[in-house]
Amino acid sequence: MSEIRAEKIWRNGQLINWEDAKIHVLSHALHYGTSWFEGIRCYETQRGSEIFRLHDHIKRLFNSAKIYRTNVPFSSEELIKGTIDTISANKLKACYIRPIIFRGLGTIGVDPLPANVEVYIIVWEWGAYLGTESLANGVDVMTSSWRRAAPNTFPTMAKAGGNYLNSVLIKMEAVSQGFSEGIALDINGYVSEGSGENLFLVTEGRVLTAPTASAILPGITRNSVICLLKDRGHEVLEQQIPREMLYMADEVFLTGTAAEVTPVRSIDKITIGDGQRGQVTTQVQEDFFAYVKGEVNDRFGWMQPVKSP
Ligand code: PMP
Repeated sequence: MSEIRAEKIWRNGQLINWEDAKIHVLSHALHYGTSWFEGIRCYETQRGSEIFRLHDHIKRLFNSAKIYRTNVPFSSEELIKGTIDTISANKLKACYIRPIIFRGLGTIGVDPLPANVEVYIIVWEWGAYLGTESLANGVDVMTSSWRRAAPNTFPTMAKAGGNYLNSVLIKMEAVSQGFSEGIALDINGYVSEGSGENLFLVTEGRVLTAPTASAILPGITRNSVICLLKDRGHEVLEQQIPREMLYMADEVFLTGTAAEVTPVRSIDKITIGDGQRGQVTTQVQEDFFAYVKGEVNDRFGWMQPVKSP
């Protein structure tokens, strides 16, 4: 992984130097997790640099803030322009993009409403999250002993900083036991998702993924993969998945902005299928990368050019 660093960061509408993007220790978000963010990728395509599903990510960002009664002092158009400007200012061809809204100074009481709302957009160069080799060979994962949040506790549809304490526990447990990732079950014991990825499985010719009601973050990559699979004529079902279906599956793969489409080779040391990247996984990976690298037409309108043509 390359160093997380660039020249400029967008702060409340201005581009500032990387070194100057500092916040006060009394920022509300540091104490109570009151931040909402996105992870987005910009790809170098044959048509130039293009951001994958920028509008959809910004929409989810605004919805995350809305759940927490936070009025964002910028419009989505301003954040879209801010993202493009930040990539251009850093002269990056391909990068990871992290817009973040948080409650800053103004109160140290639990009620965040008196605290300032701060908005930053950070970009940096980033490769494959779970490693380039894992895109071909798959990863070994475990079922986490940590569950995803119960309904009406932490809203999992919000991509909020505080939610990531759950992800951090899942990830640390997995890594400390020699696995690449942990898969969490929901409060009822059905499959939910990885610490930062949604999960799909292929069984008896059908593709299954956990429904929104299983405490997932409804991933934008998940939605894209569902579209690409349906486009190829696959049946995709969003339904509750008992844990044991994971072990019986012919193929399992993870999706996310960071993980892209990553095959799963084993779960709890049980080999999935024949332990090789499966047919459906291979095809959807090829379709996904052909799309984001601009090797095919942008038929779903998912790509946002950084430079106007
Ligand atoms: N679930 C969680 C908990 C995540 O953090 C992510 C990454 N944002 C995902 C799923 C995948 O979402 P997306 O495809 O929008 O990146």
